[in-house]
Amino acid sequence: MTAPVSTAEPPASKRAAAPLPSDDARLRALAAENAALRLAIERLPHGLCMFDGADRLVLANRRYREIWDLPEALMRPGTPFADILAATRGREAEWSRLAELPPPDRDRTRRREWVMDDGRTISIVVTRLADGTAIAVHEDVTEQRRTEARIAHLARHDALTGLVNRAVLREELERLLARNARGEDLALLYLDLDRFKAVNDSHGHPVGDELLREVAARLRGCVRDTDLVARLGGDEFAIAQCGAPQPTASRRLAQRLIEALSAPFEIAGVQAHIGTSVGIAVAPFDGDDPDTLLKNADLALYRAKADGRGALRYFEPAMDERARRRRTLEADLRAALALQQFHLEYQPVVRVADAAVCGVEALLRWRHPVRGEVSPAEFVPLAEDTGLIVPIGRWVLEQACRDALRWPASVRVAVNVSAVQFRHGALLRDVAHALAHSGLAAGRLELEITESVMLREPAQAVAQLAQLRAHGVGVALDDFGTGYSSLSTLHAFRFDRLKIDRSFVHDVERDAGARSIVRAVAGLGRSLGIATTIEGVETPEQLAIARDEGCIEAQGHLFSRPRPADAIAAFVASAAAGRSRAASPGSADV
Ligand code: C2E
Ligand code: MG
Ligand code: MG
Repeated sequence: MTAPVSTAEPPASKRAAAPLPSDDARLRALAAENAALRLAIERLPHGLCMFDGADRLVLANRRYREIWDLPEALMRPGTPFADILAATRGREAEWSRLAELPPPDRDRTRRREWVMDDGRTISIVVTRLADGTAIAVHEDVTEQRRTEARIAHLARHDALTGLVNRAVLREELERLLARNARGEDLALLYLDLDRFKAVNDSHGHPVGDELLREVAARLRGCVRDTDLVARLGGDEFAIAQCGAPQPTASRRLAQRLIEALSAPFEIAGVQAHIGTSVGIAVAPFDGDDPDTLLKNADLALYRAKADGRGALRYFEPAMDERARRRRTLEADLRAALALQQFHLEYQPVVRVADAAVCGVEALLRWRHPVRGEVSPAEFVPLAEDTGLIVPIGRWVLEQACRDALRWPASVRVAVNVSAVQFRHGALLRDVAHALAHSGLAAGRLELEITESVMLREPAQAVAQLAQLRAHGVGVALDDFGTGYSSLSTLHAFRFDRLKIDRSFVHDVERDAGARSIVRAVAGLGRSLGIATTIEGVETPEQLAIARDEGCIEAQGHLFSRPRPADAIAAFVASAAAGRSRAASPGSADV
């Protein structure tokens, strides 16, 4: 082997003038160059070694000795490769294959990576030159490979819980479904935590994160090794259960999961009560590809949640039909505003003491071109989910303020406002605009909100309510008694009115509990100086009870069903006429 020599020569002009160096000087220069090269090779960060055509060592650097922990004695030029190899025997996973140097017949490069028993990964690139010389570069790539493995893990796992993610679940379902075709049972359970949002919002994200980790641990504790638990995002999880008889096994597992997650969690001194609902799809009946199976398990979950918390539901084809219906309805809802398919009806609210009409509640109506009248109970939640309630709610405000100008100034107009409109942030502007545009006095407008407004970011909600109040707009708390009905809501903001939910009125004659609630809320209103309106009064008996319990105003079919705007002025007038007849002596109309 000949050492490489610098080929750089001085320019021709200088060459002529320079004296020829003596042999001695040339030798000294050569030696110096050789030493520099050896130093460079010795200090390379990679292991380097070179063998001749007979596989005898020509040179090896320090890093090579270090990587393989070779004794100095083996590093002498001329040492056979076989001796060096023998010294590394037992330390690498695949010793015999390490022995392969490319055969010395032609010019070629071979790359290999070896995982050692001590956990290191060594990469070796060997090049056999045409003259038989073999040059090998050895590199410890352990850290590099670990980082790559970490990145690959992150791409497939959820960083918070360590569970696999949706992509892996899909892959795995794909694989399991292929086995399922050969007759193995497979069920997909889709879970969504109940009340997680409330815990996260009230105790902060660190507690929420820890809670999710704990949930993951409990889920792992419920399944067998052959099942796969995945986090699909947020508070949604899924479990692929395979090799167990269906549907019995999935029902048992779902019950175990519901029980495991309903036990309280202790996190950083906070006791959290959540729970879970479970939707189940069984292959191949409910889908024989991952996407269909996931979609159907999700539909079953949707049903489970709608049926109450802590429930489990199996997918049924009718659910798919419902979802399709919902999708069509959503598309139609998007177009409804532009197509002017909405209108408002107004339900009178009367004073219990003298039956005077003191206000009306605007109720949104959708006249669907094919389906006819669609109930707000069906489309308002959909409009909330899609955010469409923001432009729709804006239209309601504008229209209601305009219509209210057609009635006596003593009749206020109440407009229902969704929590989504609060969160969206444009409500104050929309209200101000509707008032300015119509010229309606702010004092005649009342907004009806439900407690859900207070659930997320209550401070922000209270600030918005205070701003509305500063505008002169009234604020009523609707459907009181259902949902949370927490006293802290009443403490956080001074409402102008509490509306007692009609579900209590419905039972008030037969159910002592319902009557107690009406009494308690009316009493609460009195002591806090807040007017109470009782909703859904249908019979004179219900009205009598409402009066006895001290409700100030009442609303319901007994007085009037919701009516078109045109009919309100006449209704107010006839109610006033009825009152004066009642007041005049000799009237039979009481
Ligand atoms: P809500 O605000 O509690 O409205 C009262 C509901 O009770 C109305 O139903 C009304 O027609 C009904 N009702 C009134 N008196 C009686 C009665 O004596 N018996 C019975 N059984 N029911 C009575 P509707 O119009 O179907 O509205 C349902 C819900 O839809 C409303 O409940 C409200 O939460 C929502 N909603 C209606 N309009 C709007 C709106 O413009 N915006 C928003 N965000 N929600 C609205
Ligand atoms: Mg209302
Ligand atoms: Mg209500």
